[in-house]
Amino acid sequence: MKKKSRGKHRTLLQIKICIMMIIVFTLCFGSGTKSDLVKASGAAYPQVYHVYIDSQFMGTVSNRELVETYIEKQITTEEEKYDELNLTINETVEYVPEVSFQPIYNNDQVIKRLYNKLTYSIRGVQLVVDGHLVGYFQNKQLAQQVIDKYIEQYVTEDILEQLKIDTSQDKHSSIEQQLTLGERQVVDVTLIEDVEIKEAKVPPTDLLLVEQGVKLLDRGHYVERTHTVQDGQTIEQIAEMYAMSLDEIETNNPNIVEQKVEDGDNIIIKEREPYLHVMVQEEELEEKAIAYNTKYETSTELYEGQTKVKQPGEEGKMLVHSRLFIHNGEVKEKEILSEEMIKKPVNEIIIRGTKEIPTKGSGDFYWPTDGGEITSHIGWRWGSYHKGIDIAGVESKDIFAADNGVVTFSGIRGGYGKRIVIDHQNGFETTYSHLSTLHVSEGQSVKKGQPIGFIGSTGSSTGIHLHFEMYFEERLQNPLDYY
Ligand SMILES: [Zn+2]
Repeated sequence: MKKKSRGKHRTLLQIKICIMMIIVFTLCFGSGTKSDLVKASGAAYPQVYHVYIDSQFMGTVSNRELVETYIEKQITTEEEKYDELNLTINETVEYVPEVSFQPIYNNDQVIKRLYNKLTYSIRGVQLVVDGHLVGYFQNKQLAQQVIDKYIEQYVTEDILEQLKIDTSQDKHSSIEQQLTLGERQVVDVTLIEDVEIKEAKVPPTDLLLVEQGVKLLDRGHYVERTHTVQDGQTIEQIAEMYAMSLDEIETNNPNIVEQKVEDGDNIIIKEREPYLHVMVQEEELEEKAIAYNTKYETSTELYEGQTKVKQPGEEGKMLVHSRLFIHNGEVKEKEILSEEMIKKPVNEIIIRGTKEIPTKGSGDFYWPTDGGEITSHIGWRWGSYHKGIDIAGVESKDIFAADNGVVTFSGIRGGYGKRIVIDHQNGFETTYSHLSTLHVSEGQSVKKGQPIGFIGSTGSSTGIHLHFEMYFEERLQNPLDYY
């Protein structure tokens, strides 16, 4: 068999010699790589090739093309197993030529060895982001689609198209014109990380689809960070903040003893971070309110503590042109480009009274409630003396000072409940009992008719009413004698 095949080859070789001679002479030995003959001293000698696969000797062949054609055929056969994939062999093939008068070779043996040795990979690409391998794809176009789809999560295709057109023009002036109040406009889209799409040999099972690539970019990887403990944080709180388990934190921080941490401790945490960040820059035109200031003036026409608005305040308006830096949909920074005042704020002016409150009563009394009727008069009642009048059924909760004076008591006193006593500095004294709320305090000057508290039912009381007493030079008076 060997002999036969060798003989057959000889014949082929001889035919080839004739052809090659012509070529060789025409090209003046231009390319010797595919030639199986070498011209020496005017005659051509056969040349053989020692074949190496990944530096391992496979045998000797008479013809280099034989091996090359075989490998190509094998690749084509393998490719038929997959849909539209370009395959390549993983091994490096080397040919070492030798010129010999009596060449020894075994083509069949080499081919047989090759058959067992060769393994196949896809001629694909790898997507690498900032040095991290994200995954393998069939070709550059698909890897680019992954990036495009990822970007489109944050910017629409239309806007990306528009940006391409804008870059050829004077971008900034056109943006300024297009900005409308309250709206944002994308002015730039960039990737924060370096993206590389490199040719690579890929095992067919490792190929990813575009959607898988987008998900992987999003899912990202764990990034190590340092968290400094503050405000008495516990290890549990920190674990929750970063969605980590206590075990994970302890594994990363072997120095933590019995899960105890103190403020200022640095804790290594691991956080998931997308591989890729899309930075979208947007410009925005906003109207911002400017708060008004309050100015005070005084007037002797108003009593102390009384105020009156002389001029209501009005907010101003500012037109703010700013640029936002948005990383994967999250605003990271806002830069104010310009501010223009379109309406000045108007100060609020408040008049404060300085007129001293008269503490001496006028002797002319103000009714202590807002309307109402007398439900109990002064005099003997159920075996005891009722020292004042009871007023109920009032229009509002307010209780008023009957005349100018000074508060001598404001607090709780036994059956009277919450009670106010006013000395009118003219011999008269009035008291207000069973109140729900006290608005004045001891020593305070009050003006006739000034609200001093709310009606109630505190102390010994059977319902909401005001118990009102009046004295003149410490002698009990019937209030009704003065109204
Ligand atoms: Zn009473």
